[in-house]
Amino acid sequence: MSFDSLGLSADLLRAVREHGYTQPTPIQSQAIPIVLEGRDILAGAQTGTGKTAGFTLPMLQRLSEKKSPAAQNTKRRPVRALILTPTRELAAQVAESVNTYSAYLPLKSTVIFGGVSINPQINKLRKGVDVLIATPGRLLDHVGQKTVDLSQVEILVLDEADRMLDMGFIKDIRRVLALLPKQRQNLLFSATFSKEIKRLTQDLLHNPAMIEVARENTTAERIEQIVHPVDRKRKRELLSWLIGSQEWRQVLVFTRTKHGANRLSEQLANDGITAAAIHGNKSQGARTRALADFKSGKVRVLVATDIAARGLDIDQLPHVVNFELPNIAEDYVHRIGRTGRAGNEGVAISLVCVDELKLLKDIERLIKFEIPKDVKPGYEPDPSIKAEPIQRGRKGKPGNSKSKHRKPASKRRGSQSPIPANRNNGNRSRSSSGQANQRSR
Ligand code: AMP
Repeated sequence: MSFDSLGLSADLLRAVREHGYTQPTPIQSQAIPIVLEGRDILAGAQTGTGKTAGFTLPMLQRLSEKKSPAAQNTKRRPVRALILTPTRELAAQVAESVNTYSAYLPLKSTVIFGGVSINPQINKLRKGVDVLIATPGRLLDHVGQKTVDLSQVEILVLDEADRMLDMGFIKDIRRVLALLPKQRQNLLFSATFSKEIKRLTQDLLHNPAMIEVARENTTAERIEQIVHPVDRKRKRELLSWLIGSQEWRQVLVFTRTKHGANRLSEQLANDGITAAAIHGNKSQGARTRALADFKSGKVRVLVATDIAARGLDIDQLPHVVNFELPNIAEDYVHRIGRTGRAGNEGVAISLVCVDELKLLKDIERLIKFEIPKDVKPGYEPDPSIKAEPIQRGRKGKPGNSKSKHRKPASKRRGSQSPIPANRNNGNRSRSSSGQANQRSR
Protein backbone atom coordinates (compact mmCIF):
# COMPACT_ATOMS: atom_id res chain seq x y z
CA MET A 1 0.00 0.00 0.00
CA SER A 2 1.21 3.52 -0.69
CA PHE A 3 0.44 6.82 1.05
CA ASP A 4 -1.34 8.03 -2.11
CA SER A 5 -4.32 5.73 -1.57
CA LEU A 6 -5.17 7.00 1.93
CA GLY A 7 -6.98 10.16 0.91
CA LEU A 8 -4.30 12.63 1.98
CA SER A 9 -3.87 15.96 0.18
CA ALA A 10 -1.02 16.69 -2.23
CA ASP A 11 0.60 19.09 0.28
CA LEU A 12 0.75 16.41 2.96
CA LEU A 13 1.93 13.73 0.55
CA ARG A 14 4.74 16.02 -0.53
CA ALA A 15 5.85 16.57 3.07
CA VAL A 16 5.71 12.82 3.74
CA ARG A 17 7.69 12.06 0.58
CA GLU A 18 10.32 14.64 1.39
CA HIS A 19 10.62 13.18 4.87
CA GLY A 20 11.58 9.91 3.23
CA TYR A 21 8.57 7.75 4.01
CA THR A 22 7.44 5.58 1.13
CA GLN A 23 4.93 3.24 2.73
CA PRO A 24 2.49 3.78 5.57
CA THR A 25 2.96 1.64 8.67
CA PRO A 26 -0.03 -0.57 9.67
CA ILE A 27 -1.31 1.96 12.20
CA GLN A 28 -1.08 4.72 9.61
CA SER A 29 -2.98 2.82 6.92
CA GLN A 30 -5.69 1.95 9.44
CA ALA A 31 -5.97 5.25 11.28
CA ILE A 32 -5.62 7.84 8.52
CA PRO A 33 -8.84 7.09 6.57
CA ILE A 34 -10.87 6.84 9.79
CA VAL A 35 -9.59 10.13 11.20
CA LEU A 36 -10.28 11.77 7.85
CA GLU A 37 -13.91 10.64 8.18
CA GLY A 38 -14.10 12.56 11.43
CA ARG A 39 -14.56 9.52 13.66
CA ASP A 40 -13.18 8.99 17.16
CA ILE A 41 -10.42 6.43 17.49
CA LEU A 42 -9.27 4.11 20.23
CA ALA A 43 -5.88 2.83 19.16
CA GLY A 44 -3.71 0.23 20.84
CA ALA A 45 -0.27 1.33 19.75
CA GLN A 46 2.99 2.34 21.35
CA THR A 47 5.89 4.49 20.30
CA GLY A 48 7.70 2.86 17.42
CA THR A 49 4.62 2.00 15.40
CA GLY A 50 4.44 5.27 13.48
CA LYS A 51 1.40 6.38 15.48
CA THR A 52 2.45 10.05 15.49
CA ALA A 53 2.10 10.40 11.73
CA GLY A 54 -1.00 8.20 12.03
CA PHE A 55 -2.86 10.92 13.89
CA THR A 56 -0.94 14.02 12.76
CA LEU A 57 -1.38 13.66 9.00
CA PRO A 58 -5.18 13.30 8.92
CA MET A 59 -5.55 15.85 11.70
CA LEU A 60 -3.65 18.44 9.67
CA GLN A 61 -5.72 17.63 6.63
CA ARG A 62 -8.99 18.12 8.49
CA LEU A 63 -7.80 21.41 9.93
CA SER A 64 -6.70 22.69 6.56
CA GLU A 65 -9.91 21.59 4.82
CA LYS A 66 -12.22 23.72 6.85
CA LYS A 67 -11.68 27.12 8.35
CA SER A 68 -12.38 27.59 12.01
CA PRO A 69 -15.70 29.41 12.48
CA ALA A 70 -14.15 31.33 15.38
CA ALA A 71 -11.17 32.44 13.32
CA GLN A 72 -13.45 34.55 11.20
CA ASN A 73 -14.61 36.58 14.19
CA THR A 74 -11.38 36.98 16.10
CA LYS A 75 -7.97 38.23 15.07
CA ARG A 76 -6.11 35.59 17.03
CA ARG A 77 -6.09 32.04 15.66
CA PRO A 78 -7.85 29.78 18.15
CA VAL A 79 -6.34 26.46 19.19
CA ARG A 80 -8.16 23.94 16.99
CA ALA A 81 -6.25 20.77 17.78
CA LEU A 82 -4.83 19.83 21.17
CA ILE A 83 -2.36 16.97 21.59
CA LEU A 84 -1.64 15.92 25.17
CA THR A 85 1.44 13.83 25.95
CA PRO A 86 2.81 12.50 29.25
CA THR A 87 6.37 13.84 28.93
CA ARG A 88 8.28 16.83 27.69
CA GLU A 89 10.38 14.71 25.38
CA LEU A 90 7.38 13.13 23.72
CA ALA A 91 5.74 16.55 23.40
CA ALA A 92 8.85 17.90 21.69
CA GLN A 93 9.00 14.94 19.33
CA VAL A 94 5.34 15.17 18.39
CA ALA A 95 5.78 18.91 17.81
CA GLU A 96 8.67 18.18 15.49
CA SER A 97 6.46 15.79 13.50
CA VAL A 98 3.62 18.31 13.32
CA ASN A 99 6.11 20.88 12.04
CA THR A 100 7.50 18.53 9.43
CA TYR A 101 4.16 17.39 8.05
CA SER A 102 2.62 20.87 8.01
CA ALA A 103 5.51 22.31 6.00
CA TYR A 104 3.24 23.13 3.04
CA LEU A 105 0.10 24.03 4.97
CA PRO A 106 -0.86 27.43 6.34
CA LEU A 107 -1.16 26.05 9.88
CA LYS A 108 0.78 27.12 12.94
CA SER A 109 1.73 24.91 15.84
CA THR A 110 3.58 25.23 19.11
CA VAL A 111 4.57 23.07 22.04
CA ILE A 112 4.30 23.86 25.73
CA PHE A 113 5.79 21.90 28.61
CA GLY A 114 7.18 22.53 32.05
CA GLY A 115 10.79 22.89 33.11
CA VAL A 116 11.37 25.87 30.82
CA SER A 117 10.36 29.52 31.04
CA ILE A 118 6.67 30.14 30.47
CA ASN A 119 7.07 33.57 28.84
CA PRO A 120 8.20 32.56 25.34
CA GLN A 121 5.28 30.10 25.35
CA ILE A 122 2.87 32.89 26.26
CA ASN A 123 4.22 35.01 23.40
CA LYS A 124 3.71 32.22 20.90
CA LEU A 125 0.21 31.50 22.15
CA ARG A 126 -0.61 35.19 21.98
CA LYS A 127 0.24 35.22 18.27
CA GLY A 128 -2.21 32.37 17.74
CA VAL A 129 -1.67 28.68 16.96
CA ASP A 130 -3.83 26.09 15.27
CA VAL A 131 -2.19 23.03 16.81
CA LEU A 132 -1.06 22.93 20.41
CA ILE A 133 1.06 20.09 21.78
CA ALA A 134 1.25 20.12 25.57
CA THR A 135 1.98 18.23 28.74
CA PRO A 136 -0.99 18.46 31.11
CA GLY A 137 0.66 20.35 33.99
CA ARG A 138 2.03 23.24 31.96
CA LEU A 139 -1.17 23.45 29.94
CA LEU A 140 -3.10 23.99 33.16
CA ASP A 141 -0.59 26.66 34.23
CA HIS A 142 -1.46 28.51 31.05
CA VAL A 143 -5.16 27.96 31.66
CA GLY A 144 -4.70 29.43 35.15
CA GLN A 145 -2.96 32.47 33.70
CA LYS A 146 -5.59 32.76 30.98
CA THR A 147 -2.91 32.63 28.31
CA VAL A 148 -4.61 29.82 26.39
CA ASP A 149 -8.19 29.42 25.23
CA LEU A 150 -9.35 25.87 24.63
CA SER A 151 -12.97 26.68 23.82
CA GLN A 152 -12.53 26.19 20.07
CA VAL A 153 -10.74 22.83 20.06
CA GLU A 154 -12.06 20.60 17.29
CA ILE A 155 -9.70 17.65 17.66
CA LEU A 156 -8.23 16.21 20.88
CA VAL A 157 -5.43 13.65 20.88
CA LEU A 158 -4.38 11.80 24.02
CA ASP A 159 -1.01 10.28 23.20
CA GLU A 160 0.30 7.47 25.42
CA ALA A 161 -2.81 7.77 27.55
CA ASP A 162 -1.80 4.84 29.75
CA ARG A 163 1.40 6.56 30.73
CA MET A 164 -0.41 9.76 31.49
CA LEU A 165 -2.57 7.84 33.92
CA ASP A 166 0.45 5.97 35.32
CA MET A 167 2.07 9.31 35.99
CA GLY A 168 -0.97 10.49 37.90
CA PHE A 169 -2.34 12.93 35.32
CA ILE A 170 -5.96 11.75 35.39
CA LYS A 171 -7.24 14.75 37.36
CA ASP A 172 -5.37 17.16 35.10
CA ILE A 173 -6.79 15.45 32.03
CA ARG A 174 -10.31 15.68 33.38
CA ARG A 175 -9.81 19.37 34.15
CA VAL A 176 -8.65 19.94 30.58
CA LEU A 177 -11.59 17.96 29.16
CA ALA A 178 -14.00 20.21 31.04
CA LEU A 179 -12.60 23.21 29.14
CA LEU A 180 -13.14 21.76 25.67
CA PRO A 181 -16.24 22.07 23.51
CA LYS A 182 -18.51 19.01 23.76
CA GLN A 183 -18.57 18.56 20.02
CA ARG A 184 -15.13 17.46 18.91
CA GLN A 185 -13.17 14.55 17.51
CA ASN A 186 -11.20 12.45 20.02
CA LEU A 187 -8.22 10.24 19.27
CA LEU A 188 -6.81 8.12 22.07
CA PHE A 189 -3.59 6.14 21.84
CA SER A 190 -2.53 3.71 24.53
CA ALA A 191 -0.20 0.75 24.71
CA THR A 192 -2.21 -1.07 27.37
CA PHE A 193 -5.85 -1.08 28.39
CA SER A 194 -6.19 -1.05 32.14
CA LYS A 195 -9.46 -0.53 33.95
CA GLU A 196 -8.70 3.18 34.33
CA ILE A 197 -8.07 3.59 30.61
CA LYS A 198 -11.31 1.80 29.81
CA ARG A 199 -13.19 4.13 32.15
CA LEU A 200 -11.61 7.17 30.52
CA THR A 201 -12.39 5.94 27.02
CA GLN A 202 -16.04 5.34 27.96
CA ASP A 203 -16.37 8.96 29.11
CA LEU A 204 -14.38 10.44 26.29
CA LEU A 205 -14.97 8.60 23.04
CA HIS A 206 -18.13 8.45 20.95
CA ASN A 207 -18.61 5.33 18.92
CA PRO A 208 -14.87 4.96 18.39
CA ALA A 209 -13.22 2.89 15.71
CA MET A 210 -10.93 0.41 17.44
CA ILE A 211 -7.49 -0.08 15.99
CA GLU A 212 -4.92 -2.48 17.30
CA VAL A 213 -1.52 -2.99 15.83
CA ALA A 214 0.36 -6.10 16.74
CA ARG A 215 3.57 -4.31 17.50
CA GLU A 216 4.11 -6.06 20.80
CA ASN A 217 4.42 -9.51 19.29
CA THR A 218 6.71 -8.52 16.51
CA THR A 219 8.79 -6.37 18.82
CA ALA A 220 9.11 -9.16 21.34
CA GLU A 221 10.30 -11.41 18.61
CA ARG A 222 12.91 -8.92 17.58
CA ILE A 223 14.16 -8.37 21.10
CA GLU A 224 16.61 -10.78 22.57
CA GLN A 225 16.20 -10.72 26.34
CA ILE A 226 19.00 -11.83 28.64
CA VAL A 227 19.65 -11.68 32.36
CA HIS A 228 23.24 -11.54 33.60
CA PRO A 229 23.20 -12.53 37.28
CA VAL A 230 25.85 -10.47 39.10
CA ASP A 231 26.59 -9.09 42.56
CA ARG A 232 25.21 -5.62 43.24
CA LYS A 233 28.67 -4.10 43.77
CA ARG A 234 30.03 -5.48 40.51
CA LYS A 235 27.34 -4.29 38.15
CA ARG A 236 29.19 -1.20 36.98
CA GLU A 237 32.33 -3.20 36.28
CA LEU A 238 30.36 -5.78 34.30
CA LEU A 239 28.56 -3.08 32.34
CA SER A 240 31.82 -1.35 31.38
CA TRP A 241 33.27 -4.68 30.37
CA LEU A 242 30.23 -5.61 28.26
CA ILE A 243 30.23 -2.24 26.50
CA GLY A 244 33.97 -2.36 25.86
CA SER A 245 34.42 -6.01 24.93
CA GLN A 246 31.32 -6.22 22.74
CA GLU A 247 31.97 -2.80 21.26
CA TRP A 248 28.48 -1.49 21.88
CA ARG A 249 28.20 1.91 20.27
CA GLN A 250 24.81 3.10 21.50
CA VAL A 251 23.42 1.87 24.79
CA LEU A 252 20.43 3.09 26.75
CA VAL A 253 20.90 2.16 30.41
CA PHE A 254 18.14 2.34 32.99
CA THR A 255 18.67 3.02 36.65
CA ARG A 256 16.03 3.19 39.34
CA THR A 257 16.98 6.57 40.80
CA LYS A 258 18.15 9.97 39.55
CA HIS A 259 21.11 9.82 41.89
CA GLY A 260 21.98 6.36 40.55
CA ALA A 261 21.80 7.67 36.97
CA ASN A 262 24.21 10.52 37.77
CA ARG A 263 26.61 8.27 39.63
CA LEU A 264 26.66 5.59 36.94
CA SER A 265 27.23 8.07 34.14
CA GLU A 266 30.18 9.55 36.08
CA GLN A 267 31.61 6.09 36.76
CA LEU A 268 31.34 5.10 33.11
CA ALA A 269 33.10 8.32 32.13
CA ASN A 270 35.88 7.36 34.56
CA ASP A 271 36.12 4.05 32.73
CA GLY A 272 36.63 5.95 29.49
CA ILE A 273 33.11 5.42 28.16
CA THR A 274 31.31 8.59 27.09
CA ALA A 275 28.01 8.82 28.95
CA ALA A 276 25.28 11.29 29.85
CA ALA A 277 22.44 11.08 32.36
CA ILE A 278 18.85 12.10 31.69
CA HIS A 279 16.32 12.44 34.49
CA GLY A 280 13.72 14.70 36.00
CA ASN A 281 16.16 16.85 37.97
CA LYS A 282 18.03 17.89 34.84
CA SER A 283 17.02 21.09 33.14
CA GLN A 284 15.14 20.76 29.89
CA GLY A 285 18.17 22.12 28.07
CA ALA A 286 20.45 19.49 29.59
CA ARG A 287 17.98 16.72 28.71
CA THR A 288 17.65 17.86 25.12
CA ARG A 289 21.41 18.18 24.78
CA ALA A 290 22.05 14.72 26.26
CA LEU A 291 19.52 13.16 23.90
CA ALA A 292 20.98 14.97 20.88
CA ASP A 293 24.52 13.89 21.81
CA PHE A 294 23.33 10.32 22.23
CA LYS A 295 21.50 10.28 18.92
CA SER A 296 24.46 11.76 17.07
CA GLY A 297 26.87 9.25 18.61
CA LYS A 298 28.80 11.85 20.58
CA VAL A 299 28.01 9.96 23.76
CA ARG A 300 27.89 6.22 23.73
CA VAL A 301 25.74 5.61 26.78
CA LEU A 302 22.60 7.39 27.89
CA VAL A 303 21.71 6.61 31.50
CA ALA A 304 18.05 7.29 32.18
CA THR A 305 15.35 6.89 34.77
CA ASP A 306 11.98 5.50 33.65
CA ILE A 307 10.14 8.79 33.65
CA ALA A 308 12.83 10.55 31.63
CA ALA A 309 12.97 7.78 29.06
CA ARG A 310 9.25 7.62 28.36
CA GLY A 311 8.42 8.36 24.79
CA LEU A 312 12.02 8.77 23.71
CA ASP A 313 12.16 8.18 20.02
CA ILE A 314 15.56 6.81 19.29
CA ASP A 315 15.66 4.83 16.11
CA GLN A 316 17.43 1.52 15.76
CA LEU A 317 18.63 1.36 19.31
CA PRO A 318 20.65 -1.85 19.47
CA HIS A 319 21.10 -2.22 23.22
CA VAL A 320 18.99 -1.51 26.25
CA VAL A 321 20.43 -2.37 29.65
CA ASN A 322 18.53 -2.60 32.89
CA PHE A 323 21.28 -1.69 35.32
CA GLU A 324 18.60 -2.17 37.95
CA LEU A 325 15.25 -3.79 37.41
CA PRO A 326 12.26 -1.46 37.69
CA ASN A 327 10.00 -1.64 40.73
CA ILE A 328 6.98 -1.95 38.47
CA ALA A 329 7.08 -4.95 36.15
CA GLU A 330 5.29 -3.12 33.32
CA ASP A 331 8.11 -0.58 33.20
CA TYR A 332 10.37 -3.42 32.08
CA VAL A 333 8.23 -3.83 29.00
CA HIS A 334 8.32 -0.09 28.30
CA ARG A 335 12.07 -0.06 28.79
CA ILE A 336 12.89 -2.92 26.46
CA GLY A 337 10.47 -1.49 23.89
CA ARG A 338 13.19 1.10 23.22
CA THR A 339 15.12 -1.53 21.30
CA GLY A 340 14.22 -3.74 18.37
CA ARG A 341 12.32 -0.96 16.67
CA ALA A 342 11.38 -0.35 13.07
CA GLY A 343 12.39 -3.81 11.92
CA ASN A 344 15.75 -3.83 13.65
CA GLU A 345 16.91 -6.49 16.01
CA GLY A 346 17.66 -5.45 19.54
CA VAL A 347 19.07 -6.88 22.73
CA ALA A 348 17.70 -6.12 26.19
CA ILE A 349 20.14 -7.00 28.94
CA SER A 350 19.31 -7.00 32.64
CA LEU A 351 21.99 -7.02 35.33
CA VAL A 352 20.29 -8.72 38.23
CA CYS A 353 21.61 -9.09 41.77
CA VAL A 354 20.24 -11.14 44.63
CA ASP A 355 18.12 -8.21 45.89
CA GLU A 356 16.13 -8.18 42.65
CA LEU A 357 15.13 -11.80 42.26
CA LYS A 358 11.58 -11.08 43.36
CA LEU A 359 11.28 -8.21 40.87
CA LEU A 360 12.59 -10.55 38.17
CA LYS A 361 9.90 -13.12 39.06
CA ASP A 362 7.22 -10.40 38.79
CA ILE A 363 8.51 -9.44 35.35
CA GLU A 364 8.67 -13.02 34.13
CA ARG A 365 5.12 -13.58 35.37
CA LEU A 366 3.95 -10.51 33.46
CA ILE A 367 5.65 -11.36 30.19
CA LYS A 368 4.86 -15.06 30.61
CA PHE A 369 8.38 -15.95 29.71
CA GLU A 370 11.44 -17.03 31.63
CA ILE A 371 14.29 -14.79 30.52
CA PRO A 372 17.46 -16.77 29.75
CA LYS A 373 20.16 -16.38 32.42
CA ASP A 374 23.76 -16.01 31.35
CA VAL A 375 26.40 -15.82 34.07
CA LYS A 376 29.48 -14.10 32.75
CA PRO A 377 32.75 -15.84 33.69
CA GLY A 378 34.54 -13.75 36.30
CA TYR A 379 31.26 -12.19 37.43
CA GLU A 380 29.65 -15.20 39.10
CA PRO A 381 27.46 -14.08 42.01
CA ASP A 382 28.83 -14.81 45.46
CA PRO A 383 26.25 -17.16 47.05
CA SER A 384 27.14 -15.91 50.56
CA ILE A 385 25.75 -12.42 49.77
CA LYS A 386 22.26 -12.05 51.17
CA ALA A 387 19.45 -10.02 49.68
CA GLU A 388 19.04 -6.47 50.96
CA PRO A 389 15.98 -4.25 50.72
CA ILE A 390 15.95 -2.38 47.44
CA GLN A 391 16.77 1.31 47.42
CA ARG A 392 13.59 2.87 46.14
CA GLY A 393 13.27 5.51 43.46
CA ARG A 394 10.51 8.09 43.16
CA LYS A 395 7.72 5.62 42.67
CA GLY A 396 8.57 3.54 45.67
CA LYS A 397 9.30 6.30 48.17
CA PRO A 398 7.32 5.94 51.36
CA GLY A 399 4.81 8.74 51.49
CA ASN A 400 4.69 9.18 47.74
CA SER A 401 1.00 9.34 47.06
CA LYS A 402 1.29 7.81 43.60
CA SER A 403 3.11 4.77 44.83
CA LYS A 404 0.54 4.15 47.52
CA HIS A 405 -2.12 3.59 44.93
CA ARG A 406 -0.08 1.44 42.64
CA LYS A 407 -0.22 -2.26 43.04
CA PRO A 408 2.60 -4.37 41.67
CA ALA A 409 1.98 -4.95 37.98
CA SER A 410 1.33 -8.62 38.45
CA LYS A 411 -1.52 -7.81 40.84
CA ARG A 412 -3.10 -5.07 38.77
CA ARG A 413 -6.23 -6.32 37.15
CA GLY A 414 -7.08 -5.38 33.62
CA SER A 415 -3.51 -4.80 32.53
CA GLN A 416 -2.83 -7.25 29.83
CA SER A 417 0.53 -8.78 29.22
CA PRO A 418 2.06 -6.59 26.58
CA ILE A 419 4.56 -9.24 25.57
CA PRO A 420 3.43 -12.78 25.03
CA ALA A 421 5.70 -15.76 25.21
CA ASN A 422 7.90 -15.57 22.17
CA ARG A 423 10.14 -17.75 20.15
CA ASN A 424 12.68 -17.71 22.99
CA ASN A 425 10.17 -19.57 25.05
CA GLY A 426 11.04 -22.71 26.83
CA ASN A 427 13.57 -22.89 29.56
CA ARG A 428 16.81 -21.88 27.99
CA SER A 429 18.35 -20.69 31.22
CA ARG A 430 21.99 -21.46 31.17
CA SER A 431 25.20 -20.33 32.68
CA SER A 432 28.57 -19.15 31.47
CA SER A 433 28.83 -19.74 27.79
CA GLY A 434 25.15 -19.41 26.83
CA GLN A 435 26.11 -18.78 23.21
CA ALA A 436 22.67 -19.62 21.90
CA ASN A 437 21.35 -16.51 23.61
CA GLN A 438 23.96 -14.13 22.39
CA ARG A 439 22.84 -13.27 18.92
CA SER A 440 24.20 -10.10 17.39
CA ARG A 441 26.25 -8.85 20.25
P1 AMP B 1 6.20 6.85 16.33
O1 AMP B 1 5.59 5.56 16.70
O2 AMP B 1 5.23 7.82 15.78
O3 AMP B 1 7.01 7.41 17.46
O4 AMP B 1 7.24 6.58 15.12
C1 AMP B 1 8.33 5.73 15.29
C2 AMP B 1 9.40 5.96 14.25
O5 AMP B 1 8.98 5.49 12.97
C3 AMP B 1 9.76 7.42 14.06
O6 AMP B 1 11.16 7.51 14.04
C4 AMP B 1 9.20 7.80 12.73
O7 AMP B 1 10.00 8.79 12.11
C5 AMP B 1 9.23 6.48 11.97
N1 AMP B 1 8.14 6.37 10.97
C6 AMP B 1 6.87 6.76 11.12
N2 AMP B 1 6.14 6.50 10.01
C7 AMP B 1 6.97 5.91 9.13
C8 AMP B 1 6.81 5.40 7.81
N3 AMP B 1 5.64 5.42 7.17
N4 AMP B 1 7.89 4.87 7.21
C9 AMP B 1 9.08 4.83 7.85
N5 AMP B 1 9.31 5.28 9.10
C10 AMP B 1 8.26 5.82 9.74
